[in-house]
Amino acid sequence: MAGTGSLALIIVRTMKMLLDRYDRTINYLRLSITDRCNLRCRYCMPEEGVEMVGHGDLLTYEEIVRTIEVFARNGISKVRITGGEPLVRRGAVDLVKAIARIKGIKDLSLTTNGVLLKEYAGALVEAGLRRINISLDTLKSDRFAYITRRDGFKEVWEGIEEALRQRLSPIKVNVVVIKGLNDDEIKDFARLSLTYPLHIRFIEFMPVGEENDWNREEAIPSSQIMEEIRGIGELVPLGPYENGGPAERYYIEGGKGEIGFISPISSHFCAQCNRLRLTPDGKIRTCLFSDEEIDLKAALRRSGGEVMLEKILYHALQAKPEGHRIGDMRFKKCQRGMHAIGG
Ligand code: SAM
Repeated sequence: MAGTGSLALIIVRTMKMLLDRYDRTINYLRLSITDRCNLRCRYCMPEEGVEMVGHGDLLTYEEIVRTIEVFARNGISKVRITGGEPLVRRGAVDLVKAIARIKGIKDLSLTTNGVLLKEYAGALVEAGLRRINISLDTLKSDRFAYITRRDGFKEVWEGIEEALRQRLSPIKVNVVVIKGLNDDEIKDFARLSLTYPLHIRFIEFMPVGEENDWNREEAIPSSQIMEEIRGIGELVPLGPYENGGPAERYYIEGGKGEIGFISPISSHFCAQCNRLRLTPDGKIRTCLFSDEEIDLKAALRRSGGEVMLEKILYHALQAKPEGHRIGDMRFKKCQRGMHAIGG
């Protein structure tokens, strides 16, 4: 009879691990289910003239679930649903429920702008969601209307309160810091982590999409944000945790929440990158900043067989670049904006 040691060995042997050409373990799929959004954040999506993916070109929920089932059997264990705004696509809660049940998916999360969260938080928890990321770049209602070109601050704040009531945990609040736009609110956001069990995550502004007029001067490095927060209190470092992603984590003495820094520009973390992206129109992107895409939808609609999906997955592993080239003369911004790729 096999002892517990050999049983463990059998389990390890049957667990698949996806390695790319640079020996990175790829276990994370960032899944965008729509390019539509109920906001128009100035640095993310143009107000008008955006060509949207036609309904027939969107991956259906059945196609998405089929893909994730096959990917999960091969080593993908984390999925984040995003967009556009995922909660504007009809049936998003049903998709959460279906993905939460897929064998091998150990971590499921969702990124939302929070506008519809008050309405959906309870149903999302019932569907199996345990944690959430909410994007919010300002705590001022009029500035929110300026940045997003829509009213909605009150709805987002009520969405955060509902997420707290529903005990989603962690609740990460993502703040993209842009010079002259919201950098005067760094301390106010950091202070939220004193009063609420929120994980405030400051994200460096990135050059994504031809339409975004990124420039280096507007992208405030994490080191500068940290310096400013030290004016409130000591930042005590926390180690990485399983679902921490690339954030450097801290808390302020006595605080209920955390503060994290995501620094794709100032200290890029490509060597630890564990993710693939799937766009709403069914293209796999192996790097946020690269225009190279692999047409999963065409393969799905041609055969949809497990072997075909596995072939696509392994092709993506081979194609994943070593890193982005921001800061290098050869760097060229990718064409699609964040709303169309999935942020
Ligand atoms: N609608 C959802 C939301 O607002 O969270 C999901 C999609 S949105 C594109 C995801 C995240 O990408 C948001 O936090 C947004 O602020 C961020 N984002 C968009 N463009 C960005 C850029 N150029 N640099 C850094 N973050 C960006």
